[in-house]
Formats: sequence, structure tokens, C-alpha cells
Amino acid sequence: MQGVAYEGGGTLRVSTTEVEPPGPGELQIAVAYCGLCGTDLHIAHGNMDARVRTPLIFGHEAAGTVAAVGPGVTGWEVGDPLTVMPLLWDGTCSACLAGHQHICQNLTFVGIDSPGALQQRWNVPASIAVPLPADLDLRAAALVEPVAVAVHDVRRSELQVGDRVVVLGGGPIGVLIGCVARHAGAQVLIAEVDESRRARIAALGFETVDPATDDVVAEVGRWTGGDGADVVFEVSGAAAAARSTTALAKVRGTIVVVAIHAAAREIDLQRVFWRELRLLGARVYQRSDFERAIALLGQGVIPAEELITRVVPLDRTPAAMDDLAAGRAMKILVEVGA
Ligand SMILES: [Zn+2]
Repeated sequence: MQGVAYEGGGTLRVSTTEVEPPGPGELQIAVAYCGLCGTDLHIAHGNMDARVRTPLIFGHEAAGTVAAVGPGVTGWEVGDPLTVMPLLWDGTCSACLAGHQHICQNLTFVGIDSPGALQQRWNVPASIAVPLPADLDLRAAALVEPVAVAVHDVRRSELQVGDRVVVLGGGPIGVLIGCVARHAGAQVLIAEVDESRRARIAALGFETVDPATDDVVAEVGRWTGGDGADVVFEVSGAAAAARSTTALAKVRGTIVVVAIHAAAREIDLQRVFWRELRLLGARVYQRSDFERAIALLGQGVIPAEELITRVVPLDRTPAAMDDLAAGRAMKILVEVGA
């Protein structure tokens, strides 16, 4: 079978390896599609060399079917469609014992800390496999993982019907947050610097602003009649965006930090105090978020085909990663199956 591995030093290699049978408690997945995301770029660019063990087959946004069922696994048949929630927790730390297994203090993220989905046969613990409805297209199903991120972020925000929501950063996660928030009854404005992304976002019916040329605080002030936004999602990872969040949120508004910030950021705590703002983090997802994401994709709430810029064969993964890094795409799927 073929797979794509990060070999260290910023190098990717497409290689052929033997298929290993699934071990006890495992399912073997015939991966159909795997989405590429910003984390994969960080791996490929060597930003996570201190964490990953090479060679690493990466990828964690997968959809496929069961190819083989390992010893001791029940409830699955060869051919069943599935996706994978790529988190393994220890079950013993204080976070796990409090019910927050998804942010376990010793979390293993599958596809970063252990082999991922960019291989034609992928063995995973059956405990993290999530069944898909038979009528959900596997291309759309490759978006379940990022949609689950958005579902979790919106759930954390506790937004209400009629809320005005500002999303800073209009990449795939920002747009998916917009879709989920709109479905929950919010009005959504998305700030994004890239012109082609802004055009796609506007075509999906969202208000847009360009933080490079527009005064986002003034625009949001006008949009909300001077009140500010009920909820601000920081999805850009940019210092200026982080700094603007407290100026964008209304009295008792909520700021949700979704992006991975590479450095400590300046934020106006006086404003947090004065307006009694809520500032909270939202990281990955829980099983219920995954199941909700599958339902939203099945209902057509998420415009999957509009978000998929293109689908490339497995051996074109390195070039696709370059396109993604250059901002020339929204979501790129790798067609893994052969
Ligand atoms: Zn734990």
C-alpha cells in the first residue's frame, strides 16, 4: 500500500509499505479521503519536530470503510463506512476524571503523536471509530473532523438565537464556525485578509470585512448599532486579531480562542474587567460534537462541496501542501484509496 510520511527536515515522501493486519481491539480502515489542515502544514514545515517521531504518516481528517476487523472487536462489519475521532486519552488524569477526556493532560492526537490517515490501510483502535450513515458521501464525510471542531467551538460559546457573531479568520475552521453559528440562529460576520477566500465566504451568504484595509472595530460597531458582538471567535492566530477581540465584544460578550497562537499575545484585561467579558478556550471536540457534525453534514447544513477546493491523488500530497501553504485553497482532500 501507499502512504505519505513526514521524514523530518521539512521533507515529505510518498512510499510503499506492507499492510499490517489489525491488532486486538483494532479496525483496519480502507481510507477513501483525507483532508489536509493547518496542523499538517505545521508538521510538514518542521514546526513540530520537537513533538513528532519520524517517519510519521500524518493526516487526521479521514473517511473510509472497514477493510478488516481485528480480534475482539464487535459491532463492525467489513464495508461499514466510518470516520475517526483522532484522540486517545489516559482516562486517569484529573481532566479525564472530571469528564474532559478530549483535553486529557496526556492526550495522544492520532496523526501527530501516532500514525495517521494518509495511508491506504490504517489500523486504529475501534474505540475511536465513529460510524457514518450509509447515504453520506465519503467526500463530505472527510469534513466531519473540522466540522466537529466548529460544533465544539459554538457549543462552548453558548450563543443564543439572534446573536451577532464575529469570526476573525476565514479559513476552513472560521467558515465552518460561521455555518454552525448561523444554523444555530446567529448573524455572522467573517473577517478574512485573503481576497479569494472573502469572495467564497460572501458567496455562502456571510457578511465579510478585510482586516488589512477595513477598520474591523468600526465596521462591527456599525453592524451592531454601537453595541459590539455577542460572541467573537478568534480563529486567525494573528496578534492584531487577538488584540482586537476585547474591542469587538459587547458588554458581557464572549471571546472564544480557537486558533493556535505561536506566542503569548497582548490582550486588554481592563476591557475584560470593565465590560465583564468572558474569555475562554475551545480545543478539539467531544464524541457528541463528532456525532452532531455527522448530522449537520447529512442535513446539508454544511456546504461541503463549496468548501472542497479540489481533490488530489495520494502521490500529489506534497504539491497540495504547497498550495495550502500559499493560501491558494480552502479545503483540499487527498483521495487515498486505490
Ligand atoms: Zn487524561
